Amino acid sequence: MTFHPDVASGRAGLGEPLTLNSVTVRYGETTALDDLTLNVDAGEIVAIVGPSGSGKSTLLRSIAGLETIETGQILLGDRDLATVATHRRWVGLMFQDNALFPHLTVADNVAYGLVHGSSRLQPAGRRASGAVESRVAEMLGLVGLEDFGSRPVQGLSGGEAQRVALARALAPEPGLLMLDEPLGSLDRALREELTIELRSLLNELGQTAVHVTHDQGEAFAIADRVAVLIGGSLRRVGPPEKVWLEPGSVEVAQFLGHRNIWSVSVESGQDATILRWGHRTLGEVGPATKAGRYIAVVPEQSLTLARGRAAAIEVVVDRVAFTRQGFEVECHSEGDDDHARGAAGPRPVWFLAEERLHPGDRVGLSLDLNRLHLLQT
Ligand code: ADP
Repeated sequence: MTFHPDVASGRAGLGEPLTLNSVTVRYGETTALDDLTLNVDAGEIVAIVGPSGSGKSTLLRSIAGLETIETGQILLGDRDLATVATHRRWVGLMFQDNALFPHLTVADNVAYGLVHGSSRLQPAGRRASGAVESRVAEMLGLVGLEDFGSRPVQGLSGGEAQRVALARALAPEPGLLMLDEPLGSLDRALREELTIELRSLLNELGQTAVHVTHDQGEAFAIADRVAVLIGGSLRRVGPPEKVWLEPGSVEVAQFLGHRNIWSVSVESGQDATILRWGHRTLGEVGPATKAGRYIAVVPEQSLTLARGRAAAIEVVVDRVAFTRQGFEVECHSEGDDDHARGAAGPRPVWFLAEERLHPGDRVGLSLDLNRLHLLQT
């Protein structure tokens, strides 16, 4: 079963831009959102990721009108939402707990917002029942549940229930769709499949969406841009690949799952500017890089088996685990000096290998310096 974005192709481009200007929300002494500014373009999908307690729910609740903001401004299109009641904000919501009404059929669940809420296109009142019916049918087609309208929602599989919840959220043509861990309760294979489908469906609709998740993989897969929220502040915002390769701080790098975070130095010699990790020369960096100490964030993909080429690092394999991306190898480098050793001994080095290695294997690694990210200390 798949979503059918083509059903709605005539409706592309309904999303509105979202603007948050210096938004601050406090609960007593706790600052849950700290002077937060974010612009989401019309039709853009932005994923908000951050550890538990970083303010993700507060952000969604503030946009939905369920939280009072202390300072700042939230605009949807050109409407300042400060004076707009929750049910008139034309914001669609989809949660992990799909919150379907158990006593209603699938069709009645999808129709609920059309009958009881206000819609952007029909703000003043209710739709004629024929219009509701055809909109419900269109929405069920959109999520691949054409024949499900008369079914009770009890007994739907987890994936089907989430499709109904999505159809219900989209039915009133919201200017903004907000998704809060929408796929969190599904098993992994289904979650990954629906993530990709959801992305193409939202793109096809031109639906502006803010997607909140603690799962970085899901965020990277679905979003045009990822926004990393830590301690109520946006610490990094950008396309997924850029945020991953250039996290901008150790905190963001660690949150995103980087494990090779090394203390390195840049030394300018006569002919070249050299990057060193402990006693090792990792390679040359551009002359524009100033001499001094740095933190290097080294993605696992940038380290590969040297296979006869000069190795930047010699390591001994400690552990190997198979993942779909390849064999994930944890190893340590021998003969580290104090700079390269942590207090607890040699720092682990992580990389991805195409073949299975074994604990105790000694191998040389080369390093793609273009994918290494230097942070000033
Ligand atoms: P997240 O969704 O990222 O886990 P939240 O937005 O729920 O984060 O919470 C952000 C911060 O605000 C946390 O420190 C949390 O304890 C606090 N907080 C959230 N809701 C309330 C509340 N109703 N009363 C007091 N503190 C709250």
